[in-house]
Amino acid sequence: MIYFDNAASTRLDDEVLKVMTPYFTQNYGNSQSQHAKGREAAGALIAARDKMASLINCNSDELYFVSGGTEAGNTAIKGACSHYKTGSIVLSAIEHPAMLESARDMQKHGFELILVYPDENGVISPESVEKALRSDTIFCGVMAANNETGVVQPVEQIGKICRERGVFFYIDCVQTAGTRKIDASICDGLGISSHKFYGPKGVGALYLRKGSKVDRLISGGMQESGFRGGTVNIAGIVGMVEAYSRACACREEHNIKLKKLRDALVSGVLSNIDCAKINGGGDILSSHANISFEGCDGERILFLLDLKGICVSTGAACSAGVVYSSHVLQAMGLSPSRVKSSIRFSFGNYNTMQEVETTISALCEIIKKIQVGV
Ligand code: PLP
Repeated sequence: MIYFDNAASTRLDDEVLKVMTPYFTQNYGNSQSQHAKGREAAGALIAARDKMASLINCNSDELYFVSGGTEAGNTAIKGACSHYKTGSIVLSAIEHPAMLESARDMQKHGFELILVYPDENGVISPESVEKALRSDTIFCGVMAANNETGVVQPVEQIGKICRERGVFFYIDCVQTAGTRKIDASICDGLGISSHKFYGPKGVGALYLRKGSKVDRLISGGMQESGFRGGTVNIAGIVGMVEAYSRACACREEHNIKLKKLRDALVSGVLSNIDCAKINGGGDILSSHANISFEGCDGERILFLLDLKGICVSTGAACSAGVVYSSHVLQAMGLSPSRVKSSIRFSFGNYNTMQEVETTISALCEIIKKIQVGV
């Protein structure tokens, strides 16, 4: 099996599993309990929060552990709306559904959603964000890099504009966590998700600058300083922080490896397959390549690659039997045939050059087959 879908999820690192295991089998206490087992869990939680906060450059009391990128984004948007009661939300049109759908939910409560479109390379310009901000804007969200194209966004400049205007600025860092440095000081809120950097699923982190006007989403006990109720997932959190520390320590080395794999796939595909075109431009994460095979159906390519044991993804989402094409590539202004024929290859630490070569050969065969109508 060849797995080129690391932007969807990554394999858990064996070393991370080793660090997590005692929190399932021995140190399984509830961090809210007042006995020794509870104190053990609470101690692990404090250490994990301090470590994570130092890695993303924020204070420990500005960091909340959540279930992942979706909860982080929902909390930030809906929590800001709950606080302000009225106003407009500015989002890039290429945000993940975790952000777009949260804002659409808030439209039902009278908030206005203003979308900012990217250029043909998939980049959101700071100027276009500045134009979209209004005196009633309560929230602005632009992702650090897009999940489909890997295109990196100028979030530092956008953060400066928002700060000048006094607008809360949130960065969805789910795709960059692990391969790019995260610095909380450039924004007011950010979210990450552990399963994108070889940590466990169902755990993430939400940074909210001290004094942020964001109400809680999940009411319950006094966990997470009363901001997010529910028994704390100690094993998951310990695993995420271990995975993130490892990713930070090996970031340069891993980026070099991923870039070699990605560049080899891209040059192999472009030199052998005439209809192939790269989607996105500028600064692209070393882990991503989004390629259209014009004239071919992306879903069909995915299916035929799957038959050969190669896992990739399309930007299309399927719901109740209806396939929706990529809102990201559409927002970039790509033609419908280019959008429909796109495939995302996303590389990870466990991939090899041999796998890239096998995939290039498989793609050549599949595209030829589709073109002659077999
Ligand atoms: N934001 C982005 C950019 C993503 O790529 C994803 C997941 O693919 C999410 C948010 C949602 O994260 P999670 O799966 O942790 O809920």
